[in-house]
Amino acid sequence: MQTAIATVCLSGTLPEKLEAIAAAQFKGVEIFENDLLSFNGTPTDVRRMAAGLGLDIVAFQPFRDFEGMPEPQRSKAFSRAERKFDVMEELGCGLLLVCSNVSHDSLGGIDRAAADFRELGERAGKRGLRVGYEALAWGRHVNDYRDAWEVVRRADHPSVGLILDSFHVLVRRTDLSPMRAIPKERIVLVQVADAPLLEMDYLSWSRHYRSFPGQGELPVDAFMTALQATGYDGLLSHEIFSDRFRAGSARSVAIDGQRSLVFMLDELRRRTGVPVPGLPALPPRATCTGVEFVEFAMDDAAAADLEKLLAGLGFTKAGRHKSKDVDRLRQGDVNIVVNREKEGFAHSFNVTHGSSVCAIALRVDDASAAVERAVHLLHQPFRQGVGPGELEIPAVRGLGGSLVYFVDRKRAPSGIWDVDFDPLPPEPGAPEAGIVRFDHISQSMHDQEMLTWLLFYTSLLDVRKTRVQDVLDPGGIVQSQVVATEDGALRLVLNASQSERTLASRFLNALFGSGVQHIALATDDIFGTVERLRANGVDLLPIPLNYYDDLEARTDLSPEDIERLRDGRILYDRDGSAEYFQVYTRTLENGFFFEVVERRNYSGFGAVNAPIRLAAQTMLAPHPAMPRV
Ligand code: MG
Ligand code: MG
Repeated sequence: MQTAIATVCLSGTLPEKLEAIAAAQFKGVEIFENDLLSFNGTPTDVRRMAAGLGLDIVAFQPFRDFEGMPEPQRSKAFSRAERKFDVMEELGCGLLLVCSNVSHDSLGGIDRAAADFRELGERAGKRGLRVGYEALAWGRHVNDYRDAWEVVRRADHPSVGLILDSFHVLVRRTDLSPMRAIPKERIVLVQVADAPLLEMDYLSWSRHYRSFPGQGELPVDAFMTALQATGYDGLLSHEIFSDRFRAGSARSVAIDGQRSLVFMLDELRRRTGVPVPGLPALPPRATCTGVEFVEFAMDDAAAADLEKLLAGLGFTKAGRHKSKDVDRLRQGDVNIVVNREKEGFAHSFNVTHGSSVCAIALRVDDASAAVERAVHLLHQPFRQGVGPGELEIPAVRGLGGSLVYFVDRKRAPSGIWDVDFDPLPPEPGAPEAGIVRFDHISQSMHDQEMLTWLLFYTSLLDVRKTRVQDVLDPGGIVQSQVVATEDGALRLVLNASQSERTLASRFLNALFGSGVQHIALATDDIFGTVERLRANGVDLLPIPLNYYDDLEARTDLSPEDIERLRDGRILYDRDGSAEYFQVYTRTLENGFFFEVVERRNYSGFGAVNAPIRLAAQTMLAPHPAMPRV
């Protein structure tokens, strides 16, 4: 199966786009006409440039408002087509993408359209070219792939084929079963696009919200299963119009495109058991059974602040690295690594980003297999020199240049800690506070990165994603999406905001990039934990008293219960009989904070409380610099 991507997916100039596409290991490219028109060179120059990068120009697009026109528009449409054919010959491109007519002048009629395509096929065939017909979801007369196929079938010309685009098929919820009966050799191109489920007109939906397969909510899987039934093994391409992609980096978006294709085809093969030609055998998505540790890269002052807060939260120093200035703090099943090294990865991370989380280590079933899969998905494995007798933990680059480590029991059957760390005797004093495990880790990122990291986690790990939620911050809207394992062993909350004034965005600016903004720790007894935090002198985020008045009004909690929550600065949510309790620490210098939660059969994240928490934090946050006018 040959894969390709349309230039329209990416930001930048045509040469930049082609370079990004080649760098992402695509072999084919669809040239979008506007990219050619805005390029300061001839089609022959483009042909040379593509060839130099090892790229085949597989299609030229789009050709609009062609079929079913009355005269004189009909003749004009054919002369326009001849001019496109001239360009294609210069480009060295054999396929013209014709999308269904949206003009009010078009007459409709399946045989009229078929006759037009037969003539177009005749003209294309003389030049050794082909044309493909695609039904736009908003086409005037043809907006259903079954009708487009009927036109192609009746045109009955070897130079005329069908183009299928998953977006147009799926947004109209068209029945997929008839696709299975289309002869594969009559399909000349398949474009795969996903999108979030929205209530809006097809055109705006398509032009602004498309995404790569796996990044949205359309049943692209069902589309691919139906396509596979035809035996199709031709061109598979991305055609994504997206505001986010156009704001993002061409290189990173192109890699996401390749990654999404590999992920989608691998899933298809696993689902149907049918081999996919040309797809390498890659290990399955890693099963993640939890977070082994979170590592902070800190300068000395910030490390002291963090360790003081951790001590208040009931953590004790459990180990010291054998050769590095690195400590392990532990409570329950939570390990926090504080790295003060003055060289190596953590140090350079600290220099670039300031004191912040530089790595997350995930417990997986098979760490080597996880990295092998990552390499197939075009990730760069990370290597750092290890001292003699030390463990090399495989890793890939994650959000904001941080690392995602993979830890399994194969490398270190008794766990990783005994290998690299000298255990420390338990500290007298500071009692534990009942924290038992990581609950969730929240990462803030730039809006245009959101889909990248969503795909990163969902393609590497056996996790599910939730729907995007809008959270109200006093400075704007924050979009929030969760990826989590079925059993909740791993829960990651991805946050992004277009507004510069939300706390999420201010965190990004303070941190010089995306990263972990808060870590939620789980307790099985929130009231006991809060009592101990207070005794340890931990300053919890104050919550406005109005919140508790409202809680009294909208829940059936007793006044005593409300008083306990108010007294403990605890936020509360209920879902049926499930309950959720949350408290927050004050925010550290770098914008980072901890949350402590108790879940009683509750699976959400207290979305109803997020605006209250954000407002309370905003009250305490330093004022952002005034925008320059
Ligand atoms: Mg299309
Ligand atoms: Mg949280």
